[in-house]
Amino acid sequence: MSLSKKMSAEINAQIAAENESAYIYKAMAYKLESMNLTVFAKWFHLQATEEQEHAEKFGKYLLDRGAEVSLKAIPAPKANWKSCKEICAESLKHEQGISKRINKMVDLARAEKDHATDSFLIWFVNEQVEEEANATELLAMVELAGTASQVFMLEGRVWRLIEARG
Ligand code: MG
Repeated sequence: MSLSKKMSAEINAQIAAENESAYIYKAMAYKLESMNLTVFAKWFHLQATEEQEHAEKFGKYLLDRGAEVSLKAIPAPKANWKSCKEICAESLKHEQGISKRINKMVDLARAEKDHATDSFLIWFVNEQVEEEANATELLAMVELAGTASQVFMLEGRVWRLIEARG
């Protein structure tokens, strides 16, 4: 069974969404570096690399199913965040939006009885649970910290989270 046109369009759109996520996280990482929050920046650089890996997985899947990969333009991310807290809040909101997109693709796969795509997407459903949990934890820590100097003190803890990611 080959991929439907609709599903292959959705997956191509998801490749753009994953690459856009990477771009947004890069912008966040550079902003955090400019705030001297080097470890938070490292977190978002790693996050960006992970998003590119997600895009690769979707691209490979299209090829495996005999469909075409069609890369789209990616909008420039904003860069005017004012605080680490604003960045963390926005990254959580962004991940929640990505989860919604992936759930919609699962709905489509099930409506089309496309079991292969359904099964392929479950990895991403689970991945989004982790992404949202990480983003929630980061935001909660920054909110608890409160002041800029306390956020700076948090970097040690964020470093341990990075190490735990392996
Ligand atoms: Mg992703």
